[in-house]
Amino acid sequence: MNFELIIKEAYQKINNLDDKGETASYIPELAQVDSGNFGVHISTINQLDFGVGNYNDKFSIQSIAKVLSLSLAYAIVGDKIWDRVGVEPSGTAFNSLIQLEADKGIPRNPFLNAGAIVISDILLSNLESPKEDFLEFVRSISNNKTLEYSNRIAESEKTTGYRNIALCNFIKSFGSVENEPSDIIDFYFDLCSLEMSCKELSELFLYLANNGQGISNKKSILSESQSKRINALMQTCGFYDESGEFAFKVGLPGKSGVGGGIIAIHPDQYAIAVWSPKLNKKGNSYKGMKFLEEFTTKTKLSIF
Ligand code: GLN
Repeated sequence: MNFELIIKEAYQKINNLDDKGETASYIPELAQVDSGNFGVHISTINQLDFGVGNYNDKFSIQSIAKVLSLSLAYAIVGDKIWDRVGVEPSGTAFNSLIQLEADKGIPRNPFLNAGAIVISDILLSNLESPKEDFLEFVRSISNNKTLEYSNRIAESEKTTGYRNIALCNFIKSFGSVENEPSDIIDFYFDLCSLEMSCKELSELFLYLANNGQGISNKKSILSESQSKRINALMQTCGFYDESGEFAFKVGLPGKSGVGGGIIAIHPDQYAIAVWSPKLNKKGNSYKGMKFLEEFTTKTKLSIF
């Protein structure tokens, strides 16, 4: 399979499209990012590394970090985690409050903001220095010591994140979290502020294409079954109320973030990261979705 040629051609085709998306403006710092950025990078199990466009530029990975926090919490507490969050797609927006009322404070899945807030609570209760320990975990997956949070992005979200603060307090009112809402939400905003390039993101996520085993450091991050389950959740819940559409058009487990990044996994083959800041109405990268659709159509490879 000539991934390089297919990526180059798909990139050119999608780059020429009229971008119908809008950058996320509810986090003021995200609206400052140059919306013309467009990068793609693939990392394969067979050690192919290839990128086009702005694939070396760092961006805010936002909700993509929810896969990493889930991985660490799952590795620490095991199957007990499913007493605290569900595994069903929601069909609602990522920051929906209505769903939580109906579900009596148990978030439907770990990729909704509400679910990621509960996962943040689990990490706060189980880590000695949550912010430092989580960063250390992320760095250790791909042996990349340069990965960092962005204080600028985290502060920007902390000053305007009223909806997430409301969600966190709402969950606390049901008794579904142990820690103080202000500590939980600060940690949640910190983990959303992680910055990576497409290259770093695809190298990092290769563990989910490799049955939970790190590639560069041969470290076991998750068991085979845990890795398979996280991929299943990415497939069914990774794009909120557009998860069906992503499965339909792209056919890979994946996760998006409002910074305009998307990571997609082909188990046993590769991880591919795309970044284009303008988002469609469901909060997923407009060009990123289109690129991945073109890529899996041209490669004729998906999990289906
Ligand atoms: N930090 C963002 C929020 O909580 C993440 C949302 C996202 O990327 N979908 O609103």
